Amino acid sequence: MPIRPILTFPNSLLRKRAKPVKNIDNEIMNLIRDMKETLTEASGIGLAANQVGVLKRVVVISNSPESDAVAYINPEITHRTGKRDVVEGCLSFPGYSGIVTRSVSVSARYLDESGGKIKIAADELLAQALEHEIDHLNGILFLDHLKEHEKLSMTTPEYRPHTHDINVSVNVQNNQGEPEFNKKLYTKIGIDDLKLALDRAEIIKDAE
Ligand SMILES: [Zn+2]
Repeated sequence: MPIRPILTFPNSLLRKRAKPVKNIDNEIMNLIRDMKETLTEASGIGLAANQVGVLKRVVVISNSPESDAVAYINPEITHRTGKRDVVEGCLSFPGYSGIVTRSVSVSARYLDESGGKIKIAADELLAQALEHEIDHLNGILFLDHLKEHEKLSMTTPEYRPHTHDINVSVNVQNNQGEPEFNKKLYTKIGIDDLKLALDRAEIIKDAE
């Protein structure tokens, strides 16, 4: 099963802490392969295993169109420097984005697919993606970082990804003006539950 459906908020697995990977076995390699395919299908920048319903500490990030997605196993942020406000979205909140505070740069360590211990320093989009995806592994969502006066906005159809967005829009506009979601990635129930949960939490910014 190459493409795995993406869970949407408020699915409870998104609030669970993922467990460290002990062995990089076939199951983990299959998971990584499927997550990379799912990320590509979603035109996303990052995806954590929780988002496809697997509570293992695995994330995949594709932070530039020219390079292939990279898998980060048991990733940890070891140092954070600076703060900046960025517009962010999440594949588990398709169609929404908000302003959050992220580090300017981070140091991180992780295992690569062959089990090698890697240390990296990252800034810009990769730093943001590492913070966002590692949060997922701890059950934390970008919603939790919204600045108090900021709420989520609906992503407009004209919306195009730019360097500070953690995902790109996966909805396209149909003739009726209703967003249409990629059926390979999202179920109608998931999308309906997301809308209901966000409405109830009054987290959507009123149209001005
Ligand atoms: Zn996310």
